[in-house]
Amino acid sequence: MSNNSSNQDRIAVINAQIVTVDESGSVIDNGSLIVGANGAIRAISSGEINHNANEIIDARGAIVMPGLINTHTHLGMTLFRGLGDDMSLEDFLSRLMPAEVKVLNYNAVHAGTQLAALESLLGGITTALDMYYLPDAALDVAKSSSMRIQTGPNFLESDGPEPLAYNDRLSWAVKWLESPRDQTGSTGWIAPHSTYLLGEDHLRTLAALASKYEARVHVHAAETVGEMQLVANRHGGRTPIQVLADTNLLHRSVLAHGVHLSDADISLIANNSATVVHCPASNFKLASGIARILDLQRAGVNIALGTDGPASGNDIDLWIAIRLAGYMQKTAAKNPAVLPALDLVRMATINGARALQLDHMIGSLEVGKQADLIVLDADSPSLTPTFDPHTTIATCVTRADVLHVVVDGKLVVKDRKCLTINHQAAITAVKALGKQVLASVNNN
Ligand SMILES: [Zn+2]
Repeated sequence: MSNNSSNQDRIAVINAQIVTVDESGSVIDNGSLIVGANGAIRAISSGEINHNANEIIDARGAIVMPGLINTHTHLGMTLFRGLGDDMSLEDFLSRLMPAEVKVLNYNAVHAGTQLAALESLLGGITTALDMYYLPDAALDVAKSSSMRIQTGPNFLESDGPEPLAYNDRLSWAVKWLESPRDQTGSTGWIAPHSTYLLGEDHLRTLAALASKYEARVHVHAAETVGEMQLVANRHGGRTPIQVLADTNLLHRSVLAHGVHLSDADISLIANNSATVVHCPASNFKLASGIARILDLQRAGVNIALGTDGPASGNDIDLWIAIRLAGYMQKTAAKNPAVLPALDLVRMATINGARALQLDHMIGSLEVGKQADLIVLDADSPSLTPTFDPHTTIATCVTRADVLHVVVDGKLVVKDRKCLTINHQAAITAVKALGKQVLASVNNN
């Protein structure tokens, strides 16, 4: 144990079917998992383990698994949930972006993000890579809720709700990137929106900024046919991936969507060790297309899962993303054997951790990693019986089955109640903004 000042274990999970998502995908039946004083997993094995934890979670045979990682989302967009439906991405953006400028300030983004964190934690999502305006609000929600939220300054040509002109936005990003990072590196990101909303000069400046501060890049890429056309028109016939490669933004980047990729794009992504975040619910809803997940897999690309924003998703439900990802690929390939359950479970956990470069800390249940875990409900009819837990996770689990959630060794959801966010206050704050949100959209 690393903390000599206390040998008090924090939590003991007993009688669990532990889905570790380790290298070999091992499952430990009738297992115990002990969270030590430092919030890390001190011991994990079948049978009983000696411990001195006061908090004992008897899983009663239920699945215990790593917390889900939502690798592409726009948390504060809960404010606009359901206001951009039954239309194309391009129409959606032209409807919502001006509305966001009118409505968003720190308090509004905080309210929207807090609601999203509540929805996420209750649904088993313990970590999110967020892309939204006024990211200080998301960092504050992360601190108060204990949810892991990674975020950073967004970049579009327009001023946005901050409001900051492009050059002022750059200075702000420098301040952001120079501020001390916590141990999860959560200030070390920049988020250029896309290659269709930014010119080549802008993109090159951002690449220089990322390089100087060793910041990670989170960007939308190759989402729709419409986007491909816009990018080709704007960037001399190139694809979004080519533009990102040419402007030095592709290396180790996190690419949201990656639906419309050429073979050359896939090679570029693989060679640059970038991650593709598959967002199947958003892709289906916006009729964006079917991502080439199997080809990306064959090329060795890390593939994570995202919900996208709650106005394009529309909920923040990663269990649905797991299920849709599998079903979409099986149907497209006309082969039910492709993308088996364990692959899908990895996409929602360890692959997300890898995208965030946090796989040494989270994403699987192994000794020494921080304890980010979910305990499912042993009495759920739809999870009974569970013979192969990976299959159960990929095809049966819903958010209603999430009973307890632990982040960083701290119990944040107990018996389906969030202990770190005032549930009613979070709902009330977003409802209170409703009239203003609706007026901003209708007046466009
Ligand atoms: Zn998005």
